Amino acid sequence: MANEQAETSAETEAVRRDFIRDKVKADLAAGVHARIVTRFPPEPNGYLHIGHAKSICLNFGIAREFGGVCNLRMDDTNPTKEEVEYVESIQADVDWLIDAWAKEVKSPTVLFASDYFEQMYGYAVDLVRKGLAFVCDLNAEDFAKTRGTTTVPGTDSPFRDRAVEENLDLLERMRNGEFPDGAKTLRAKIDMASPNIHLRDPALYRIRNAHHHRTGNSWCIYPTYDFAHCLEDSIEGITHSLCTLEFEVHRPLYDWILDHLDVPKPQPRQTEFARLSLNYTVMSKRKLLQLVKDGHVAGWDDPRMPTISAFRRRGVPASAIRDFCETAGVTRYKSQTDLALLEHSIRQTLNPIAPRRFGVLHPIKVVLTNYPEGKTEELEAGNNPEDPDAGTRPLVFGREIFIDQDDFAEIPPPKFHRLKPGGEVRLKFGYIIKCEEVVKDASGEIEELRCTYDPESKRGGATAGRKVKGTIHWVEAAGAVDAEVRLYDRLFRVPEPDAGDANFIESLNPESLAVTHAKLEPSLAALPLGECVQFERLGYFCRDRDSSTDRHVFNRTISLRDSWGRQGTSG
Ligand code: ATP
Ligand code: MG
Repeated sequence: MANEQAETSAETEAVRRDFIRDKVKADLAAGVHARIVTRFPPEPNGYLHIGHAKSICLNFGIAREFGGVCNLRMDDTNPTKEEVEYVESIQADVDWLIDAWAKEVKSPTVLFASDYFEQMYGYAVDLVRKGLAFVCDLNAEDFAKTRGTTTVPGTDSPFRDRAVEENLDLLERMRNGEFPDGAKTLRAKIDMASPNIHLRDPALYRIRNAHHHRTGNSWCIYPTYDFAHCLEDSIEGITHSLCTLEFEVHRPLYDWILDHLDVPKPQPRQTEFARLSLNYTVMSKRKLLQLVKDGHVAGWDDPRMPTISAFRRRGVPASAIRDFCETAGVTRYKSQTDLALLEHSIRQTLNPIAPRRFGVLHPIKVVLTNYPEGKTEELEAGNNPEDPDAGTRPLVFGREIFIDQDDFAEIPPPKFHRLKPGGEVRLKFGYIIKCEEVVKDASGEIEELRCTYDPESKRGGATAGRKVKGTIHWVEAAGAVDAEVRLYDRLFRVPEPDAGDANFIESLNPESLAVTHAKLEPSLAALPLGECVQFERLGYFCRDRDSSTDRHVFNRTISLRDSWGRQGTSG
């Protein structure tokens, strides 16, 4: 174990190493497999979250590094919780997340476990014929009672010794819909005294008279996870079946089923790794569904959610999530990953690529009293100091502009280098201005600042080199785009909202969304969806899908710095 961690921290860009990749490499070297086949097998009962992203990056990443393929398989064996909406969102999210990075290794079509129902049933019949499975009439309650506990062995079902012929007949009649839900199960005949509870004659099929989103009413019996999963892997020729640690105790059953059936060799092998768990969030689909259903968020892709679709809507690049998953690493240790690590990956990814733009989130009007009325001019604004090829854009300047409330203080605190009465500040890419007068309305609210500008302070002018302490952003008033800007913060106030028995709803952060009416530079009206820009000095932003031609809605992807008291990384 200590070894695995050492390997993870020694991971370099060029050669990723972890215990799973080592195993894959060793299997290839030993000639166990000609080609690696992995899979990502979500159950379509919710949207994918950042934890799934880790599994996606691992499975597609391994296929990519070792010249294999990775199947996207819907594990749709439980008709009551699954929906087409989820199937579609999962496909879109996986495609977005792997993007060009692993497009090549993705199986050409999406696979569905439900397509194997007939084959799985055939395997069940084989087990019955071999005397390794039986139809049990115990109801769920009695089934549970006879199962024993971790310290007490279970007791055999009174139906355990049914003759093969009787079992075959009953199984067929189960399939034909002769019995109500819960009346019978098909169980493996293994060992009721096994120290591993999962081997105590586990259920393989249950009766569930329910409509399935793909197979309709063709089936009224459905395989359990344990029976289905190993067979799905086997049918698809999966070489390495990677799953999270809670399935470790299921592995003996995974192997038992395949070992006792006539399946192609080599059989798939299950390997477990620690699930990703992030602080300041909840990850289980059940809890995420509760947030959606009870209206605590605006939907599965509400940008405050930890879902992949929420990150996409919020403007987070797929490569930032992949980078984060790689940094989080693959280990067998259960640990909590700091949300700040994800935020760091997002800033690191966006800083070199996001074009710089001007947006004023809480506008105050500034009138430049000595600037000619009716005149405008074009200033040259740099697009990204981090990228020498990013070039410049023209920015219109005029007599009336907006600046941010935060950049003005009527009674400035010490060391306040922005605008104050009688003080000077530079407008980025433009002139130095001086605040001459603060105009207020009857209620004492600031209506506008009357300032003068120094015409010689523009680049190339006589006083261009004149130093003032502060430089602020601004937006010219006449051309400004009005926008609703949604500022998101962490959805939960506490690092572990669902620790123990805690009611996570009580830990929701009431300030996770703030909306402002902003003024943006004109080019932002045409920003394509999915593209992220930096509003200079403020953070990264993207246009939200709630926008239309005459309504502009922006999301804050992330602020420039971490405001949660950790060491910030500047953008
Ligand atoms: P949840 O527990 O959040 O409801 P799940 O495990 O039921 O999720 P599945 O759709 O069954 O969700 O998961 C698909 C794949 O993603 C599985 O292989 C599962 O092990 C993996 N996975 C799910 N959650 C995480 C996580 N937090 N970290 C890493 N892998 C995960
Ligand atoms: Mg699951």
